[in-house]
Amino acid sequence: MHLARFPRVKLGHFPTPLEKLDNLTKALGGPDIYIKRDDCTGLATGGNKTRKLEFLVADAMAKGADALVTQGATQSNHVRQTAAAARKVGMTCHALLERRVENAGDNYETTGNVLLDDMLRLEYAFRPNGSDMNTEAMALADSLREKGKKPYFIPGGGSNPVGALGYAQAAAELVYQADTIGLKIDKIVHATGSAGTQAGLLAGLHAISAPIDVIGISVRAKREAQIANVHRLAVATADLIGVKAELPVEMVEAYDEYVGPGYGQPTDSMVDAISLLAAEEAIILDPVYSGKGMAGMIGLIQQGVLKKGETVVFIHTGGSAALFAYEHLFSKQRRG
Ligand SMILES: *Cc1c(COP(=O)(O)O)cnc(C)c1O
Repeated sequence: MHLARFPRVKLGHFPTPLEKLDNLTKALGGPDIYIKRDDCTGLATGGNKTRKLEFLVADAMAKGADALVTQGATQSNHVRQTAAAARKVGMTCHALLERRVENAGDNYETTGNVLLDDMLRLEYAFRPNGSDMNTEAMALADSLREKGKKPYFIPGGGSNPVGALGYAQAAAELVYQADTIGLKIDKIVHATGSAGTQAGLLAGLHAISAPIDVIGISVRAKREAQIANVHRLAVATADLIGVKAELPVEMVEAYDEYVGPGYGQPTDSMVDAISLLAAEEAIILDPVYSGKGMAGMIGLIQQGVLKKGETVVFIHTGGSAALFAYEHLFSKQRRG
């Protein structure tokens, strides 16, 4: 694997820290828990999409684009980071926001990531829940092209093989950090949505023959569908990297027990996990992704799937800006 062959633009702070969570390890009484701080990538409050965008935006620049077009849910971290990346490289950014989450808090469409979108001069429009968002965003790109712009389309979550290169790179970065301090990693756990993070990690680990399991905690899709999505993208990413060995579907592990009623819908275990991390480690997770991912990791420890004697790395994929759209779940005053 030699990722410097691909164009890349600097957007974030890398490498992100790898830290031991002593208090959480003690509180849970299971494996040794480390955290990879991809919430600290720095781009307008950071998150995992910054890694993908370093490759995607470089590709857009190489193709002469002057506008980025993408889509996501209303409180999308991906859309906010894409808008930020566009500011950095002097492009405009255009996005469609899906009203995917029902029963949201009062300020759901104005605060959190949407507030940052406004500040980053994102041009956006809403679409109803259930829209074919990638198709609509491609139509938006076409309409911009007719107006003389040179749009570059980025799929939801930045999850295509070019974007997933960012997490192949993250796999190499993490293994290098662990080797430097003599740390043997058994398992990686993180929240999985549009699949690019897990697919990139798997492609990267496969390319460098690092025998580390990657467990995705689904925030939306059923287990079988998520495994198929991750596998398809992992194979395409490995292919782009030039990995010769086949990437078997058995490498893809996912759990769907922590989604709750649906994408972006609160669960008790998410609220508990976020509260625990804040109290024990002063680390702020998010309600849509990393909070459910952490709830999944805690659940797997309680079930004995993740055991004492093992070393587990939780990837904090960011997203805390969305907390402000879920204030009612955490505010002492609002909850009474
Ligand atoms: C997008 C996102 C994820 C999921 O990553 P995918 O590559 O879409 O699977 C996890 N956490 C946060 C905070 C995100 O914004």
